[in-house]
Amino acid sequence: MPSTIVLACLLLAASPPDDRPNILFIMSDDHAWQAISQYGADRNQTPNIDRIGLEGMVFDRHFVENSICAPSRAAILTGTFSHLHGVPTNAEKFDGSQPTFPALAQDAGYQTALIGKWHLKSEPVGFDHYQRLIGQGLYYGSPMIRNGERIETEGYITDLITDLSVEWLETQRDPDRPFMLMVQHKAPHREWMPGPDHLHDFEGVDLPEPATLFDDYGGRTNASNLQEMTIREHLRPVDLKLEMPEWMMKMSEADRAAWDAAYQPKNAALESLELEGDDLIRWKYQRYAKDYLRCIASVDDSVGALLAALDESGLADNTIVVYTSDQGWYLGEHGWYDKRWMYEESFRTPLLIRWPGVIEPGRRTELLSQNIDLAPTFLAAANVPVPDRMQGESLMPLLKASSDESVEDIGWRDALYYRYYESEGPHKVPKHEGVRTRRYKLIHFTDLELVELYDLDLDPDELNSVADAVDYASVRARLEDLLVELRAQSQSPGRTVRLSGS
Ligand code: CA
Repeated sequence: MPSTIVLACLLLAASPPDDRPNILFIMSDDHAWQAISQYGADRNQTPNIDRIGLEGMVFDRHFVENSICAPSRAAILTGTFSHLHGVPTNAEKFDGSQPTFPALAQDAGYQTALIGKWHLKSEPVGFDHYQRLIGQGLYYGSPMIRNGERIETEGYITDLITDLSVEWLETQRDPDRPFMLMVQHKAPHREWMPGPDHLHDFEGVDLPEPATLFDDYGGRTNASNLQEMTIREHLRPVDLKLEMPEWMMKMSEADRAAWDAAYQPKNAALESLELEGDDLIRWKYQRYAKDYLRCIASVDDSVGALLAALDESGLADNTIVVYTSDQGWYLGEHGWYDKRWMYEESFRTPLLIRWPGVIEPGRRTELLSQNIDLAPTFLAAANVPVPDRMQGESLMPLLKASSDESVEDIGWRDALYYRYYESEGPHKVPKHEGVRTRRYKLIHFTDLELVELYDLDLDPDELNSVADAVDYASVRARLEDLLVELRAQSQSPGRTVRLSGS
């Protein structure tokens, strides 16, 4: 072989082009799937988030393993259930030495970055660059930690996270390596403070009320009566923008003037209203839900800006774009705000993925997926071995398939396990675990020794538990067996006795 050809072969072998896909992971905090138009939202529009699904894939049955912020973030990073990643409630500190997909991707040659909310008490591990909020952060003028150093910032946090992320893509990205960028918004977390661009959205509009706004929980066990998360009783004056303490108002003069122009007339008009009973609940719902949706509008703008940056840089074709939330949310359903429960509004969470050339545009799936699946999926996409410790399943077969039927032929899970641990602290939601199949959901309130069973085909709003209905006795027995089996599979602590004692 001529020596020049040998040399060329050696050079090629030494540095093959790294064409592994980039990963742009966008996560918001507390985004109800009911507030995304691709999921049938009747109160707002999210054209940019929708675009990810229309050009890619929408997951209609995507769930969390524990519906609360820090545990879900840790589950996404590690691909494991809460008891294994060590953050079962918002109180624990995340141990960053355990295997996470960003650290493994970094080890495998990816350039990794995180911009936005972190909320895990320890410093991020596995990132070439990070700029994170401190704890929950602030909506305006939030201090941040950049690669270990505290910095002050100005402006509206959703817009700032967007600008920093676009800037990273444009100026700090290494063109010789694939990247994995996590853009993690604070919004639309409580206290739902809108940004300057959307302060007047929904003015003069009456948002539709959810059908279950005045739910009395009469068809459930007593568990639903124990919570403290009702629109009726538990929203605070700051949540309703009736009081604005100084710590929330670290704004520029211009932003402050715009804010006052939006809220002062509305609050002044309240003085002539005498609201009570259901009318007061309705007013609180409108005030709360509009501010929440205004926050979403800025998140949707952010997704638009990030997609545009990919288009303009020519990166879009080889970049996986993911939009998700750390859990779902009650936007007035069952009279609630917040999350935590295994009921559909908070157990289920948005997931939309675009991957040109792999996902057939416009696909939707009803197969069961869970937040612990994301880490194995990203590693599989990056051609990195998935550690045995990870408990989720790679979604790669779903992404590549043209229909759910073709995935079912090769086998896919037919049930999911859920566990919620934080009964102390805010909102007093009792501890529970449960199992969901395509049609049924069994919830076991572990300390209360109460069981609820829902037939989701007939009762999608979960208003009438059929746990004690004779017609459902065999379904209940089967789901109790399944709960014991999935609890053991997940290695979760707990009793192994039959719940019904039969
Ligand atoms: Ca959250």
